[in-house]
Amino acid sequence: MIERLARECGSSAMVMTMHYCGTAVIEKHGSEAVRRAVASGKHLSTLAFSESGSRSHFWAPLGTARADGAHVVLDASKSWITSAHHADAYVWSSRPTAGSGVSSLWLVERSTAGLSVSGGFDGIGLRGNDSAPVKAVGARIPAANRLGGDGEGFGIMMGTVLPTFSVLISAGSVGMMEAAVERTIEHAGGMKYAHLSGSALHELPTIRAYIARMRIQTDMARALWNDAITALESGRADAMLRVLEVKAATAESAREVLDTAMRVCAGQAFRKDVGVERRFRDTRAALIMAPTSDQLYDFIGKAVCGLPLF
Ligand SMILES: Cc1cc2nc3c(=O)[nH]c(=O)nc-3n(C[C@H](O)[C@H](O)[C@H](O)COP(=O)(O)OP(=O)(O)OC[C@H]3O[C@@H](n4cnc5c(N)ncnc54)[C@H](O)[C@@H]3O)c2cc1C
Repeated sequence: MIERLARECGSSAMVMTMHYCGTAVIEKHGSEAVRRAVASGKHLSTLAFSESGSRSHFWAPLGTARADGAHVVLDASKSWITSAHHADAYVWSSRPTAGSGVSSLWLVERSTAGLSVSGGFDGIGLRGNDSAPVKAVGARIPAANRLGGDGEGFGIMMGTVLPTFSVLISAGSVGMMEAAVERTIEHAGGMKYAHLSGSALHELPTIRAYIARMRIQTDMARALWNDAITALESGRADAMLRVLEVKAATAESAREVLDTAMRVCAGQAFRKDVGVERRFRDTRAALIMAPTSDQLYDFIGKAVCGLPLF
């Protein structure tokens, strides 16, 4: 579904990706009422992990959670939350209320007093993804809104969120690559040189070779994506390695495929109606959304060298 959505609209694919990530946590650790609301399409979710202090090191929140009777008081500076103005609730990370765990997770309703969303999204690509910083200053939520045990956030991030996020954001990258290949083929077949007896752009071997490379790269990315899904579904021993690999592979492939599409469609690619420049911009986020490609290269390197990831 997200792959098909991304062919048309990168922002919708991003919103759905973050919704499903939040939903995966809610499904395992949330209340029945919220799970029912999600199932009936009445609850939009998202992740509120990244913070201005630890940024892409999302596994290390600095925001705090202070126990106060039947409530918990949250203070944090979240740097980016997709669907910030529209989500019904955020799946929110903080330091644990007690103990030596790295983090705890909470379901935090957007309407909670003490939360403030600043500004709107005004960045490169993904115009409709509604990512914005969110601050919590003394935000009181019911202690019962904890998702999983106190201090168990890290395990949920790695065991539930990361596989979901990795496979879904990869779906978006594959979808955008497919759209780029399609648009480029269409463009190369339709653009003619009048002074060369109306020969089409795709009659140039250079252009055909670039399109071939785009097709190969897209198919390679799709094959790894399918294999990652198979590995997860069948509980294969290499499933976690595939989870780490597939996000980096599809994000970097999408960057290259869209760059080639810009080259092949050339001056025309700068025009919005050709449909390449938007995907070129939209593919960028997957590279730096945490875990970023560079972090993944480090994790994968450690994993294959037999070193601990953290
Ligand atoms: C459109 C968009 C939507 C987003 N939506 C959400 C959301 O819904 N929820 C959420 O929680 N977050 C979200 N994020 C935040 C995102 O996941 C990242 O946390 C954030 O973009 C990282 O950027 P930074 O500049 O803060 O990274 P920094 O941490 O400052 O990293 C800067 C650079 O250093 C590199 N780097 C850092 N650590 C290492 C390492 N250990 N090894 C190698 N290289 C390293 C990074 O790869 C990067 O290139 C969103 C971001 C964007 C752009």
